[in-house]
Amino acid sequence: MSHSSTQLPQLLETADPMRLAILNARREGRSIGLVPTMGALHEGHLSLVQASVSKCDLTVVTIFVNPTQFGPGEDFGKYPRDLEADLAALATVSRDVLVFAPSVELMYPAGYDTRVVVGAVARPLEGRCRPGHFEGVATIVLKLFQLVPADVAFFGQKDYQQLLVIRRMVSDLNIPIRVEMCPTVRDADGLALSSRNRYLSPPQRQQALSLSRSLQLAAELVAGGQRDPQVVLRRMRELIQQAGDVRIDYVALADPDTLQPVSSMDRPVLALLAVRVGPARLIDNGMIQPP
Ligand code: AMP
Repeated sequence: MSHSSTQLPQLLETADPMRLAILNARREGRSIGLVPTMGALHEGHLSLVQASVSKCDLTVVTIFVNPTQFGPGEDFGKYPRDLEADLAALATVSRDVLVFAPSVELMYPAGYDTRVVVGAVARPLEGRCRPGHFEGVATIVLKLFQLVPADVAFFGQKDYQQLLVIRRMVSDLNIPIRVEMCPTVRDADGLALSSRNRYLSPPQRQQALSLSRSLQLAAELVAGGQRDPQVVLRRMRELIQQAGDVRIDYVALADPDTLQPVSSMDRPVLALLAVRVGPARLIDNGMIQPP
Protein backbone atom coordinates (compact mmCIF):
# COMPACT_ATOMS: atom_id res chain seq x y z
CA MET A 1 0.00 0.00 0.00
CA SER A 2 1.39 3.40 -0.89
CA HIS A 3 1.63 6.09 1.75
CA SER A 4 2.91 8.97 -0.30
CA SER A 5 2.94 12.38 1.35
CA THR A 6 0.42 13.60 -1.23
CA GLN A 7 -2.27 11.20 -0.02
CA LEU A 8 -5.17 13.26 1.26
CA PRO A 9 -7.99 12.54 3.73
CA GLN A 10 -11.22 11.20 2.30
CA LEU A 11 -13.68 13.90 1.25
CA LEU A 12 -17.46 13.39 1.52
CA GLU A 13 -19.84 16.00 0.15
CA THR A 14 -23.27 14.46 0.64
CA ALA A 15 -25.32 13.20 3.57
CA ASP A 16 -25.76 9.49 2.76
CA PRO A 17 -22.08 8.46 2.59
CA MET A 18 -21.47 10.53 5.70
CA ARG A 19 -24.22 8.74 7.62
CA LEU A 20 -23.01 5.37 6.32
CA ALA A 21 -19.47 6.06 7.53
CA ILE A 22 -20.82 6.90 11.00
CA LEU A 23 -23.06 3.82 11.05
CA ASN A 24 -20.12 1.60 10.11
CA ALA A 25 -17.88 3.15 12.75
CA ARG A 26 -20.60 2.68 15.37
CA ARG A 27 -21.13 -0.93 14.37
CA GLU A 28 -17.42 -1.52 14.88
CA GLY A 29 -17.67 0.07 18.32
CA ARG A 30 -15.41 2.96 17.36
CA SER A 31 -15.73 6.30 19.16
CA ILE A 32 -16.35 9.33 16.94
CA GLY A 33 -14.98 12.85 17.28
CA LEU A 34 -16.34 15.83 15.36
CA VAL A 35 -14.50 19.08 14.58
CA PRO A 36 -16.78 21.66 12.93
CA THR A 37 -14.93 24.39 10.99
CA MET A 38 -15.44 26.91 8.24
CA GLY A 39 -12.18 25.89 6.55
CA ALA A 40 -9.18 28.15 5.85
CA LEU A 41 -7.57 25.83 8.35
CA HIS A 42 -4.70 26.94 10.55
CA GLU A 43 -2.84 25.48 13.53
CA GLY A 44 -5.74 26.42 15.82
CA HIS A 45 -8.12 24.19 13.86
CA LEU A 46 -5.46 21.51 13.60
CA SER A 47 -5.07 21.46 17.39
CA LEU A 48 -8.76 20.52 17.65
CA VAL A 49 -8.26 17.80 15.04
CA GLN A 50 -5.22 16.55 16.96
CA ALA A 51 -7.26 16.45 20.18
CA SER A 52 -9.98 14.44 18.46
CA VAL A 53 -7.53 12.05 16.78
CA SER A 54 -5.84 11.36 20.11
CA LYS A 55 -9.13 10.77 21.97
CA CYS A 56 -11.45 9.20 19.39
CA ASP A 57 -11.16 6.26 16.98
CA LEU A 58 -12.67 8.18 14.06
CA THR A 59 -12.43 11.93 13.50
CA VAL A 60 -14.76 13.83 11.18
CA VAL A 61 -13.80 17.38 10.24
CA THR A 62 -16.59 19.44 8.72
CA ILE A 63 -15.80 22.36 6.43
CA PHE A 64 -18.73 24.63 5.72
CA VAL A 65 -18.86 28.40 5.45
CA ASN A 66 -22.28 28.83 6.98
CA PRO A 67 -24.20 31.71 5.39
CA THR A 68 -26.78 31.99 8.18
CA GLN A 69 -24.22 33.06 10.78
CA PHE A 70 -23.02 36.04 8.71
CA GLY A 71 -24.94 39.29 8.93
CA PRO A 72 -25.59 41.67 6.05
CA GLY A 73 -22.36 43.54 5.26
CA GLU A 74 -20.19 40.87 6.89
CA ASP A 75 -17.50 38.90 5.05
CA PHE A 76 -19.44 35.82 3.86
CA GLY A 77 -18.62 36.50 0.20
CA LYS A 78 -14.92 37.02 0.67
CA TYR A 79 -14.38 34.52 3.51
CA PRO A 80 -11.32 32.47 2.43
CA ARG A 81 -12.18 29.12 0.81
CA ASP A 82 -9.46 26.67 -0.28
CA LEU A 83 -10.52 23.04 0.08
CA GLU A 84 -7.32 21.63 -1.48
CA ALA A 85 -5.13 23.52 0.99
CA ASP A 86 -7.41 22.42 3.86
CA LEU A 87 -7.11 18.74 2.89
CA ALA A 88 -3.33 19.08 2.66
CA ALA A 89 -3.23 20.76 6.10
CA LEU A 90 -5.36 17.97 7.60
CA ALA A 91 -3.05 15.35 6.07
CA THR A 92 -0.23 16.74 8.22
CA VAL A 93 -2.23 15.66 11.31
CA SER A 94 -3.77 12.43 10.02
CA ARG A 95 -4.80 10.97 6.68
CA ASP A 96 -7.46 8.91 8.42
CA VAL A 97 -9.79 11.78 9.22
CA LEU A 98 -12.98 12.04 7.20
CA VAL A 99 -13.78 15.46 5.77
CA PHE A 100 -17.42 16.43 5.32
CA ALA A 101 -17.78 19.50 3.10
CA PRO A 102 -21.43 19.88 2.09
CA SER A 103 -22.73 22.53 -0.29
CA VAL A 104 -24.95 25.42 0.83
CA GLU A 105 -27.76 23.84 -1.24
CA LEU A 106 -27.46 20.59 0.69
CA MET A 107 -27.56 22.29 4.08
CA TYR A 108 -30.20 24.87 3.17
CA PRO A 109 -32.35 23.54 0.32
CA ALA A 110 -35.12 25.68 -1.15
CA GLY A 111 -37.94 26.04 1.36
CA TYR A 112 -35.67 25.62 4.37
CA ASP A 113 -37.46 27.42 7.20
CA THR A 114 -36.44 26.23 10.68
CA ARG A 115 -33.99 27.76 13.13
CA VAL A 116 -32.71 27.21 16.65
CA VAL A 117 -33.65 30.00 19.06
CA VAL A 118 -30.83 30.72 21.48
CA GLY A 119 -31.17 32.16 24.98
CA ALA A 120 -29.53 34.53 27.43
CA VAL A 121 -25.92 33.46 27.01
CA ALA A 122 -26.11 34.38 23.33
CA ARG A 123 -27.39 37.90 23.99
CA PRO A 124 -24.43 40.03 25.17
CA LEU A 125 -21.08 40.69 23.46
CA GLU A 126 -21.03 38.92 20.07
CA GLY A 127 -24.78 38.51 20.18
CA ARG A 128 -25.27 42.24 20.56
CA CYS A 129 -22.76 43.14 17.81
CA ARG A 130 -23.87 40.44 15.40
CA PRO A 131 -27.66 40.03 15.58
CA GLY A 132 -28.73 36.56 14.46
CA HIS A 133 -25.16 35.23 14.49
CA PHE A 134 -25.62 32.65 17.25
CA GLU A 135 -28.98 31.55 15.88
CA GLY A 136 -27.12 30.72 12.67
CA VAL A 137 -24.30 29.01 14.58
CA ALA A 138 -26.62 26.93 16.75
CA THR A 139 -28.72 25.91 13.76
CA ILE A 140 -25.80 24.73 11.65
CA VAL A 141 -24.12 22.99 14.58
CA LEU A 142 -27.34 21.14 15.41
CA LYS A 143 -27.64 20.10 11.75
CA LEU A 144 -24.03 18.89 11.75
CA PHE A 145 -24.65 16.99 15.00
CA GLN A 146 -27.57 15.24 13.24
CA LEU A 147 -25.56 14.39 10.14
CA VAL A 148 -22.46 13.40 12.11
CA PRO A 149 -23.78 12.01 15.41
CA ALA A 150 -20.43 11.94 17.17
CA ASP A 151 -19.57 11.10 20.78
CA VAL A 152 -17.47 14.22 21.30
CA ALA A 153 -17.38 17.57 19.50
CA PHE A 154 -14.31 19.78 19.80
CA PHE A 155 -14.52 23.58 19.91
CA GLY A 156 -11.92 26.28 20.57
CA GLN A 157 -11.79 28.62 23.53
CA LYS A 158 -11.06 31.35 20.95
CA ASP A 159 -14.84 31.47 20.33
CA TYR A 160 -15.76 31.18 23.99
CA GLN A 161 -19.30 32.54 23.76
CA GLN A 162 -20.02 30.19 20.87
CA LEU A 163 -18.93 27.30 23.04
CA LEU A 164 -21.30 28.35 25.84
CA VAL A 165 -24.16 28.72 23.37
CA ILE A 166 -23.52 25.22 22.03
CA ARG A 167 -23.17 23.69 25.50
CA ARG A 168 -26.49 25.29 26.45
CA MET A 169 -28.15 23.91 23.32
CA VAL A 170 -26.69 20.42 23.85
CA SER A 171 -28.01 20.39 27.39
CA ASP A 172 -31.39 21.97 26.64
CA LEU A 173 -32.14 19.82 23.59
CA ASN A 174 -30.82 16.54 25.07
CA ILE A 175 -28.21 16.04 22.38
CA PRO A 176 -26.05 13.02 23.24
CA ILE A 177 -22.72 14.71 22.40
CA ARG A 178 -19.99 15.81 24.79
CA VAL A 179 -18.61 19.27 24.00
CA GLU A 180 -14.91 19.68 24.68
CA MET A 181 -13.10 23.01 24.84
CA CYS A 182 -9.55 23.25 23.46
CA PRO A 183 -7.18 26.11 24.35
CA THR A 184 -6.59 29.03 21.98
CA VAL A 185 -3.55 28.57 19.74
CA ARG A 186 -1.49 31.73 19.24
CA ASP A 187 1.38 32.91 17.11
CA ALA A 188 4.68 33.37 18.93
CA ASP A 189 3.91 37.08 19.42
CA GLY A 190 0.55 36.32 21.08
CA LEU A 191 -1.90 36.95 18.25
CA ALA A 192 -4.67 34.34 18.37
CA LEU A 193 -4.73 32.40 15.12
CA SER A 194 -7.77 33.20 13.01
CA SER A 195 -8.76 32.66 9.42
CA ARG A 196 -9.45 36.40 9.34
CA ASN A 197 -5.83 37.29 10.19
CA ARG A 198 -5.11 36.90 6.50
CA TYR A 199 -7.11 40.09 5.84
CA LEU A 200 -4.44 42.06 7.78
CA SER A 201 -1.61 44.06 6.19
CA PRO A 202 1.74 43.90 8.06
CA PRO A 203 1.06 47.19 9.93
CA GLN A 204 -2.48 46.04 10.78
CA ARG A 205 -1.11 42.77 12.07
CA GLN A 206 1.06 44.78 14.46
CA GLN A 207 -2.02 46.71 15.60
CA ALA A 208 -3.84 43.41 16.09
CA LEU A 209 -1.34 42.48 18.80
CA SER A 210 -3.16 44.96 21.02
CA LEU A 211 -5.88 42.35 21.62
CA SER A 212 -3.65 39.73 23.25
CA ARG A 213 -1.55 42.43 24.91
CA SER A 214 -4.60 43.91 26.59
CA LEU A 215 -5.53 40.45 27.91
CA GLN A 216 -1.99 40.13 29.20
CA LEU A 217 -2.23 43.57 30.83
CA ALA A 218 -5.51 42.64 32.54
CA ALA A 219 -3.91 39.51 33.99
CA GLU A 220 -0.91 41.51 35.19
CA LEU A 221 -3.06 44.18 36.83
CA VAL A 222 -5.07 41.57 38.72
CA ALA A 223 -1.91 39.69 39.68
CA GLY A 224 -0.60 43.00 41.02
CA GLY A 225 -3.63 43.41 43.28
CA GLN A 226 -6.04 45.44 41.16
CA ARG A 227 -9.62 44.25 41.81
CA ASP A 228 -11.71 47.04 40.26
CA PRO A 229 -13.11 45.84 36.92
CA GLN A 230 -13.66 49.44 35.75
CA VAL A 231 -9.98 50.24 36.22
CA VAL A 232 -8.90 47.08 34.41
CA LEU A 233 -11.32 47.76 31.54
CA ARG A 234 -10.08 51.35 31.20
CA ARG A 235 -6.45 50.24 31.03
CA MET A 236 -7.30 47.57 28.44
CA ARG A 237 -9.15 50.10 26.28
CA GLU A 238 -6.30 52.61 26.53
CA LEU A 239 -3.77 50.00 25.43
CA ILE A 240 -5.91 49.05 22.42
CA GLN A 241 -6.56 52.65 21.41
CA GLN A 242 -2.83 53.37 21.50
CA ALA A 243 -2.42 50.77 18.74
CA GLY A 244 -3.74 53.40 16.32
CA ASP A 245 -6.49 53.05 13.78
CA VAL A 246 -8.61 50.38 15.44
CA ARG A 247 -12.24 50.31 16.56
CA ILE A 248 -13.33 48.58 19.73
CA ASP A 249 -16.64 46.70 19.48
CA TYR A 250 -16.44 45.66 23.13
CA VAL A 251 -14.04 44.97 25.96
CA ALA A 252 -15.65 43.06 28.82
CA LEU A 253 -14.89 41.35 32.11
CA ALA A 254 -17.53 38.70 32.54
CA ASP A 255 -18.62 35.74 34.59
CA PRO A 256 -17.22 32.69 32.71
CA ASP A 257 -20.54 30.81 32.99
CA THR A 258 -23.11 33.51 32.25
CA LEU A 259 -21.03 36.17 30.46
CA GLN A 260 -22.71 38.81 32.61
CA PRO A 261 -20.44 41.72 33.62
CA VAL A 262 -18.67 41.29 36.95
CA SER A 263 -18.59 43.86 39.74
CA SER A 264 -15.54 42.42 41.48
CA MET A 265 -12.54 40.32 40.54
CA ASP A 266 -12.12 37.98 43.48
CA ARG A 267 -13.04 34.91 41.47
CA PRO A 268 -11.92 33.75 38.00
CA VAL A 269 -13.16 36.25 35.43
CA LEU A 270 -13.15 36.01 31.66
CA ALA A 271 -11.82 38.99 29.71
CA LEU A 272 -13.33 39.15 26.22
CA LEU A 273 -12.89 41.61 23.41
CA ALA A 274 -13.78 42.30 19.81
CA VAL A 275 -11.81 44.88 17.85
CA ARG A 276 -11.92 45.95 14.23
CA VAL A 277 -8.47 46.27 12.71
CA GLY A 278 -8.66 47.43 9.11
CA PRO A 279 -10.93 45.00 7.24
CA ALA A 280 -10.82 42.36 9.97
CA ARG A 281 -13.05 42.03 13.00
CA LEU A 282 -10.98 40.11 15.55
CA ILE A 283 -12.02 38.50 18.84
CA ASP A 284 -10.00 37.11 21.70
CA ASN A 285 -10.47 36.17 25.35
CA GLY A 286 -8.55 34.97 28.34
CA MET A 287 -9.29 33.69 31.82
CA ILE A 288 -8.01 35.87 34.64
CA GLN A 289 -7.36 34.08 37.90
CA PRO A 290 -6.85 36.23 40.98
CA PRO A 291 -3.83 34.95 42.93
P1 AMP B 1 -14.00 28.59 12.51
O1 AMP B 1 -13.45 27.89 11.30
O2 AMP B 1 -13.46 29.95 12.70
O3 AMP B 1 -15.50 28.49 12.59
O4 AMP B 1 -13.46 27.78 13.77
C1 AMP B 1 -13.69 26.40 13.89
C2 AMP B 1 -13.28 25.95 15.25
O5 AMP B 1 -11.89 26.22 15.45
C3 AMP B 1 -14.02 26.68 16.38
O6 AMP B 1 -14.31 25.75 17.42
C4 AMP B 1 -13.01 27.69 16.84
O7 AMP B 1 -13.17 28.08 18.17
C5 AMP B 1 -11.72 26.93 16.64
N1 AMP B 1 -10.59 27.85 16.55
C6 AMP B 1 -10.46 28.92 15.73
N2 AMP B 1 -9.30 29.57 15.96
C7 AMP B 1 -8.69 28.90 16.97
C8 AMP B 1 -7.46 29.07 17.68
N3 AMP B 1 -6.62 30.07 17.41
N4 AMP B 1 -7.17 28.19 18.67
C9 AMP B 1 -8.01 27.17 18.97
N5 AMP B 1 -9.17 26.95 18.32
C10 AMP B 1 -9.51 27.80 17.35
